Amino acid sequence: MKVLKFGSSTVASAKRIKETAELVAKLPKEGNIIVLSAIKETSDCLDEIADYLYKKNPDGAKELTNTLEHKYLSLVRELYSEKKAAEATTEIKKRFDEIRALSKDIFTLFEEKKIIAQGELLLSYIFSEYLTEMGIKAKVVPALEFMKIDKNEEADTTFIKSELAKQIEKIGKADLYITQGFICRNAYNEIDNFGRGGSDYSSALIGAAIEADEIQIWSDMDGIYNNDCAIVKEAKPVAKLSFDEAAELSYFGNGDKILHPTCILPAKLANIPVRLMNIHQPQSEGTLISTDYTPNKIEAIAAKDGITAIKIKSGKMLLAHGFLRRVSEIFESYKTSVDMITTSEVGISVTIDNNKHLDEIVNDLKMFGTVTVHKEMTIVCVVGDLHDDNIGFQAKVVNALKEIPVSMISYGGSFHNISFLIHSKDKEAALKVLNESLF
Ligand code: ASP
Ligand code: MG
Repeated sequence: MKVLKFGSSTVASAKRIKETAELVAKLPKEGNIIVLSAIKETSDCLDEIADYLYKKNPDGAKELTNTLEHKYLSLVRELYSEKKAAEATTEIKKRFDEIRALSKDIFTLFEEKKIIAQGELLLSYIFSEYLTEMGIKAKVVPALEFMKIDKNEEADTTFIKSELAKQIEKIGKADLYITQGFICRNAYNEIDNFGRGGSDYSSALIGAAIEADEIQIWSDMDGIYNNDCAIVKEAKPVAKLSFDEAAELSYFGNGDKILHPTCILPAKLANIPVRLMNIHQPQSEGTLISTDYTPNKIEAIAAKDGITAIKIKSGKMLLAHGFLRRVSEIFESYKTSVDMITTSEVGISVTIDNNKHLDEIVNDLKMFGTVTVHKEMTIVCVVGDLHDDNIGFQAKVVNALKEIPVSMISYGGSFHNISFLIHSKDKEAALKVLNESLF
């Protein structure tokens, strides 16, 4: 069995929903699970409605709710037969009335989560009804009955596995099962969610729960690219990546809009391949992420802007112990994560991508040594099989960057990554020269 996730642009209009439905209708009738997120921009709109309600502006919320409702009513008229459209109109109006009802009283996180869940609930209803009209036996497995997080907001995988199996058994045999991504219940049984983009995570959890053969994430893009397409026009989709390589790349945003980084770990632990598929090219193989990797191959180059480098230099560090811990504690106390780190005998350099507490951090670090800060930096990373016995690649990478000032180099954190810190103004040149020399 497979888990296939669709949402956003793949269901952005009646035409797109029809194409996606036709695609899933052709799947073997073996009870594959279709995970749906919301129609493009719906979640943004629901977020905005909630924002108006927090700001005690019910009129703003009402206006947006009416516009969104109108969009859905036109959609079902375009999608369904007349009879079905009338039925769906009643259902959609009922759901939007529920949103309106939430605008009347005090507004808290609880109401917000109920509102944002509507995106997924609406689409699963619309999509499954459309499949039924097509003559496909598609049944909805409500995510709110089996998807759960515990008190630490971690997915309760034991509960998910057993409840999903129970739900499927209760519902009975179907050609396809449809469920909602993103939404879940929390430890208090309230409606909750996995955070924006979280339906990929739902798909991985479901894949793990049913021990699927494959998890497919469908979008209108060609999988993960081997470089930044906006800068390097020769950039190409990557055919195959290991889970570790994909995890390295996910921080840098390659595949950002295609695959949410949280999807990788549950799939890796359950050893279920994740395939990123393009709805416009269903015949193509997409990008396959699995335990397998191509030996001696550099797969991708990625970059992340908005990085700040902090260097702490101290004679006291020499032959001392506990220095690194004290420095890390400062970052921890400001809930600021450190991304890249390099050390020498008398200094430590780190990078952060969140400057919210930069002044306080620098102030505290001054207790330990001389501190310098460089903003507007970019991390460029090269990902692939970089095991230490794969000799020569460091020389190749360093040589490619010979004309570019490099502030930090980090290698050895994993067997799949070598990272460089450069000034953001040099990013374009760096990505181009690396592309030329590595691919
Ligand atoms: N619909 C949700 C969002 O837009 C979840 C998802 O798309 O994965 O964030
Ligand atoms: Mg997404």
